Amino acid sequence: MVATETHAYPPSALIDLSSDTATRPTRAMRHAMAQAPVGDDQRGEDLTVNTLQDEAARLLGKEAALFLPSATMANQIAIKVHTQPGDEILCHEKAHIRLYEGGGPALLSGCLLRPLPGIRGIFTPRDIRDNVHPDDPHFPRTRLVCVENTHNAAGGCVWHPDEQQTVAKVTRELDLALHLDGSRLLNAAIALDIPASTLAAPFDTVTLCLSKGLGAPVGALLAGDARTIHSARRWKHVFGGAMRQAGIVAAGGLYALRHHLPRLREDHQNAVRLAEGLAAIPGVYLDPAPETNLVFFDIAGTGLSGPAAMERLLANGVRASGMGGTRLRFVTHLDVSAADIERAVAATGQALRG
Ligand SMILES: *Cc1c(COP(=O)(O)O)cnc(C)c1O
Repeated sequence: MVATETHAYPPSALIDLSSDTATRPTRAMRHAMAQAPVGDDQRGEDLTVNTLQDEAARLLGKEAALFLPSATMANQIAIKVHTQPGDEILCHEKAHIRLYEGGGPALLSGCLLRPLPGIRGIFTPRDIRDNVHPDDPHFPRTRLVCVENTHNAAGGCVWHPDEQQTVAKVTRELDLALHLDGSRLLNAAIALDIPASTLAAPFDTVTLCLSKGLGAPVGALLAGDARTIHSARRWKHVFGGAMRQAGIVAAGGLYALRHHLPRLREDHQNAVRLAEGLAAIPGVYLDPAPETNLVFFDIAGTGLSGPAAMERLLANGVRASGMGGTRLRFVTHLDVSAADIERAVAATGQALRG
């Protein structure tokens, strides 16, 4: 499939591998959005939003789901419903909620974040036991554990069900709440070839992002039991996320859930091919090997700085994102074909040999 056949846009010379958020709605998705029945979602009267919430809840095996403007808001509302000000949250040191959400847990919920180590973004029951505080007025109250699957900043790494289960077990024993930042959970489900509901099962709440690999223009969901989602709905309003005829954008997400799931496999195959091509470029070091649609590589061996390498890549028609120092990230997605990957490999070789 050629990207230009499915899009209402002229082909671009730029291959945008900076993020899977770069996807634009396809013609068919736009059509679905234009046709969507809508109503006032603040009053629960938007049919398309309600349908999306129901289908997402079913997909994730939860009682209820709430449509939200972004996965950042979904995570922040999850933190809000699980905690009180002064509480502490355990998460990986490179968790999205810690690095990329503007200090939201401190600002919006008054919580401390206690970072846990772990290669590939994965921590263990031992890490939780070693960092949870005893019930003692000297210490902040440990209240919530957050897992990220796939783990973004670690390299799109997949938590396996047994890794999640052991963490969930100790979390229950310690009477802590458990949230999953599953912005890319469907990438994990596709990579493992298991239902998303199996991966979501151990968690009290789950965030799912619609505007990453799924290719919708806007939106995310927070799923959980009916009582928790009822409370989340209040915070959606308070945080200013309650929209009116939101079915227009929800329809993009609904279309994505119905049509774009199986094709995530192509993104993963493209990521493997991209990694092979990059590994053959002198001075480029792949770390880790891609498990899903994220490809992390270090260009220290080329002698270039990260920003200089990105500039050269852009000049050669490829956009990357910087992950600090000489570490760069490419992300495969709906708008990048297998042919684009071959072009990107060639252009990257040109740019970094330069
Ligand atoms: C992108 C991302 C988010 C935030 O998603 P937005 O919809 O852009 O707010 C949260 N968590 C992870 C792991 C992400 O990759």
